[in-house]
Amino acid sequence: MASDQALRAFAGTFPGEVVLPGDDGYDTARVVWNRMVDRRPAAVVRPTGTDGVVVALRFAREHELQVAVRGGGHSLPGLSTCDDGMVIDLSRMRGVDVDAERRIARSHGGALLGELDDAAQAAGLVCPVGVVSHTGVAGLTLGGGMGRLQRRYGLTIDNLRAVELVTADGRRVRASEDENPELFWGLRGAGANFGIATAFEFALHPFDGTVTHGAVTHPIDRLDDVVALFREAVESGPDQLMPTLLVGRTDVSISVLHSGSPEQAERDLAELRAFGPPIADTIEVKPYLVAQHLADEEMEWGHRFYMKSAFVRELPTDAVRRCAELVADASAGTESVLSVWAWGGAIASVPEDGTAFSGREASYWISAEAQWDDLQLDGANREWVRNTAEEFMPYALDGRYVNDVAEAGADVRSVYGDAKYERLVALKRAWDPDNVFRLNQNIQP
Ligand SMILES: Cc1cc2nc3c(=O)[nH]c(=O)nc-3n(C[C@H](O)[C@H](O)[C@H](O)COP(=O)(O)OP(=O)(O)OC[C@H]3O[C@@H](n4cnc5c(N)ncnc54)[C@H](O)[C@@H]3O)c2cc1C
Repeated sequence: MASDQALRAFAGTFPGEVVLPGDDGYDTARVVWNRMVDRRPAAVVRPTGTDGVVVALRFAREHELQVAVRGGGHSLPGLSTCDDGMVIDLSRMRGVDVDAERRIARSHGGALLGELDDAAQAAGLVCPVGVVSHTGVAGLTLGGGMGRLQRRYGLTIDNLRAVELVTADGRRVRASEDENPELFWGLRGAGANFGIATAFEFALHPFDGTVTHGAVTHPIDRLDDVVALFREAVESGPDQLMPTLLVGRTDVSISVLHSGSPEQAERDLAELRAFGPPIADTIEVKPYLVAQHLADEEMEWGHRFYMKSAFVRELPTDAVRRCAELVADASAGTESVLSVWAWGGAIASVPEDGTAFSGREASYWISAEAQWDDLQLDGANREWVRNTAEEFMPYALDGRYVNDVAEAGADVRSVYGDAKYERLVALKRAWDPDNVFRLNQNIQP
């Protein structure tokens, strides 16, 4: 435990910003994306470079302060903050540099997805990332990285070339296929366990930035047919087509992003758009960067959120129908949804044991999600999510997406499966034997 005096002295020389309890801005600095999480750290430090990260980590270890590392602050269970410890917040280490000739992006440890998208597109390039631009590159990448281009270009980690990190003992280390390859394997799926990532290098793809994107929406009584239509789109569509099924209280929609030419998209989407007809069809040609911001507001900071997901090989209509009944029954004042994403394509072209990430052999990713504001609904909505997920869990494959695990202290072995978990334990013993980095889905050394 650090005394107030020690913390004030540290703040006086720290290369960056230090926010302590009682300081202006403390209540803003301690907030994370999920409003359900309300913690009071002893200090929030914002280094402006790698030196500051090393200094902060050393101070925390010397004073036995628990360390929480924050990239974009979007951890669902709030793992990027803590009570009484030190939050090392990388939000002063933003920015993405693109080398257009080598098609490489270097993303600093605190960058957000929107920065990577903007910098890559400015050079006519792209890296596949997630669907909400204010999410952190760090947390998303260290867990895997699902998104609208995943069937064409894979998960974000499949495009990762190197990570620079500060390890528990304060060393600066680089991990890639050539340098510390075993660490690089573990960073791609269990990465929050091994150090503080200060930069990421991604390989980029040429991408002109024009996509066909939007959704067809149908009344919920067409659910069975829409599920069949969705399955057909996933099974027979090209990898440029990313369909998502969204089951709401009164309607069901298939959202699509097609990254091929507008002509090819028109052909590939003709059957999907003709069915019904839909009550709404918002599919149109637009810039990729516009599509990448469309969910930002709906998923803004400050709401309460809980979810449970699984990877499945089949999508039985009966199970979706039972979930739809539960979606309609969720408590008033709650945004409840069942979401199903197409899997496969480039994701499946990487061997299952090629990275620590688990779940590449699935055909679909399925998730029950609730967002609300009234804290009185916390219990009911958690229960709603769990009950809804029970309907698809009988079809779940081994492995879970670590970034979707919305509770701290979950069964982490089940995220990776036994063989990978043991391999990760060996890595953890090598790189963080004292478990300094334990505010994550923790691999126990
Ligand atoms: C609105 C929203 C939309 C989302 N959309 C998607 C999506 O489209 N695709 C997808 O795959 N996931 C998505 N997610 C899940 C997201 O990938 C995870 O929540 C991810 O952990 C967020 O990363 P972050 O840096 O913002 O989070 P943080 O809360 O900052 O960190 C998450 C974890 O990573 C660790 N960490 C953060 N930065 C570093 C670092 N530099 N070095 C080492 N460890 C670090 C933290 O300690 C913590 O354990 C979404 C989440 C939200 C809330």
